[in-house]
Amino acid sequence: MADLKNDYMIRAMARRADAPEAEIRAFAVTARGVAEEARKAHETSPVVTAGLGRLMCGALMMGDMLKEDDDLLTLRIDGDGPVRGFTVTADKNGNVKGYPGVNRVSIPNREDGHLDVGVSIGAGTLTVIRDMGLKDPYVGTIELRTGEIAEDLTYYFAVSEQIPSSVGLGVLVAGDESVMEAGGFCIQLMPFASEETITRLEENIKAAPAVTELLRQGMTPEEMLKTLLNGFDVEIQETLPVQFYCNCSKERVERALVLLGTDELDKMIADEREEEVKCRFCNRAYTFCPGELSRIRARM
Ligand SMILES: [Zn+2]
Repeated sequence: MADLKNDYMIRAMARRADAPEAEIRAFAVTARGVAEEARKAHETSPVVTAGLGRLMCGALMMGDMLKEDDDLLTLRIDGDGPVRGFTVTADKNGNVKGYPGVNRVSIPNREDGHLDVGVSIGAGTLTVIRDMGLKDPYVGTIELRTGEIAEDLTYYFAVSEQIPSSVGLGVLVAGDESVMEAGGFCIQLMPFASEETITRLEENIKAAPAVTELLRQGMTPEEMLKTLLNGFDVEIQETLPVQFYCNCSKERVERALVLLGTDELDKMIADEREEEVKCRFCNRAYTFCPGELSRIRARM
């Protein structure tokens, strides 16, 4: 549980000193422990660690935008690259979990030395699912822009939600494959933002170092927002610990067995062997003895 206690997210509002009200809302997160927990759970290679870590950081901030405690946000990326994609789920309380399509992929780094998350994902789609306890969840899908994830989320906000946003996400992986830093930010303009605020924010973001550089400097979420919102009055409204957390249980994975169907289950029972079922999100293994399999079969 490395650095779990140091992982947290902030939500803030920012106001131009001469403006009547705040025209910007902003989120920032530091999540090295989250990304490292996911890496260990899924034994991911560096480029997969980076992609999964970035998507989890994005999901944590989007989870914070949910209205109710029970609401769930799922981000799913489907791509034609070697990783195939990711599925990540976050709630409003700083819990996130996720898994890659393929856990170990090795591709050359980009020319700038960064892990090539875009190529590992390839062309495809980003789907945002907001489950708010209603019959039908809200679902929005866009074509991936670059597969680098931050750009894709920025595009999603612009196209699907008409919210001008700037998203930055970064994960730094060490030579021994462990996560050194993970984090990001999401800055959004309120619908009534003035031209002056928009221009100043654009200039700030253009002038700011890349998010990986901010992370390399060891910046806290507060320092990240201070840098990106330089010249604005920043008021932090919430500080929330975040963690990689999976709420799976034997009862939940049992459903996966039921979904295999009666024929498959009959075969397992005939084999008289224990069956191991792993939770996709956290890779925890659950063992079912032949007696338990028979009981599940009897209920079907
Ligand atoms: Zn699990």
